[in-house]
Amino acid sequence: MNIHEYQAKALLEKFGVPVPKGAPAKTPEEFVTALAALPEGPTMVKSQIHAGGRGKGTFTDGFKGGVKFCKTKADAKEIAGKMLGNTLVTLQTGPAGRKVQTVYFTVASDIKKEYYLAILLDRATSRPVIVASTEGGVEIEKVAHETPEKIFKVHIDPAYGLADYQIRQLIFGLRLNPAEAKNAAKLIRALWNLYWDTDASMVEINPLITTPDDQVLALDAKVSFDDNALYRHPTITELRDLNEEDSKEIEASKFGLSYIALDGNIACLVNGAGLAMSTMDIIKHFGGNPANFLDVGGGASKEQVVAAFKIILGDPNVKGIFVNIFGGIMDCNVIATGIVEAVKEVGLKLPLVVRLEGNNVVAGKKTLADSGLSLVSGDSMADAAQKIVKLVAA
Ligand code: GDP
Ligand code: MG
Repeated sequence: MNIHEYQAKALLEKFGVPVPKGAPAKTPEEFVTALAALPEGPTMVKSQIHAGGRGKGTFTDGFKGGVKFCKTKADAKEIAGKMLGNTLVTLQTGPAGRKVQTVYFTVASDIKKEYYLAILLDRATSRPVIVASTEGGVEIEKVAHETPEKIFKVHIDPAYGLADYQIRQLIFGLRLNPAEAKNAAKLIRALWNLYWDTDASMVEINPLITTPDDQVLALDAKVSFDDNALYRHPTITELRDLNEEDSKEIEASKFGLSYIALDGNIACLVNGAGLAMSTMDIIKHFGGNPANFLDVGGGASKEQVVAAFKIILGDPNVKGIFVNIFGGIMDCNVIATGIVEAVKEVGLKLPLVVRLEGNNVVAGKKTLADSGLSLVSGDSMADAAQKIVKLVAA
């Protein structure tokens, strides 16, 4: 789960990470109260969307910059009016962009230098890793690509936690002066505590800045959490913003389905995450493109299959459906009955290829064959994948 910058900053503050003073607003009326909480003087206006690259983004009406520096609070109020309700397109939003429903005002900081600092999980070593660079502010992907030596990493032993010598390594790598180093040490410790205590999957500060008086501040913050641990953090779960999520994914989560929208045209309905991954791979292998990842889980009910079909068909790009079920725990006949019902209920006109295997498969195949529906049966995964790719291409 992702949260907005203003929510992340509140969390950072709670853990003792210094951030510029700020206040969010969701309506023009709230601009006034939010700005009243800040001192007069240079103010930043920041569009709150779940995507980075806002500073370099452009709104669909041509207005440039989702993060703006303003000399006065009056200017900030005017700029906020241009952002709120407008749609911001950045390198991370895709061409459709995201509607700005909250703006965040902060006191503008005086920047001496911008750095990059992030804590995330390194899957290769199965350990948390702190990634740091003296080249903050710009896209870190570009630094990683062109000057990888300017990024350094410190891996953390999860059983021991972050050690003081590792904080010194980071500070040394960032080449901070003694006064900055003292402030940065506290900040890194606090950031680690946040990462660990909230079951975050990523805490990214870009830029982390130093000021002319040697303060160290988090100027931007991107925090995401491990969904599987959210049950332990009810106050964090409350920060979820459904406006920022794909409506089909929200609908799917109501039915206990794991659905992720993709940009291809072959919809997949599969049981088990591993099989869903290999289904997408085999579609690609035969020259097709999956429209989604959809795992109906180990024991899908008829209602879930119907819901899954409706969600799949809510995507206008879908030109065909590939159902790939291995009945281990699941009874193939339950799935087959669900498919038949779903096809009838939604009045499916698109090509449908079904591959069933496993528990009670004979009864399942009979249900499909007796249904009178014009679906295509696949004998193996490869056979079924080739069939759907061919039908969609036709
Ligand atoms: P992003 O573009 O979505 O990553 O948004 P950021 O919050 O990182 O802002 C983009 C850039 O705006 C930063 O890299 C800074 O260079 C600049 N910026 C943000 N806040 C301030 C501020 O308080 N003072 C100044 N001078 N620049 C800022
Ligand atoms: Mg940033």
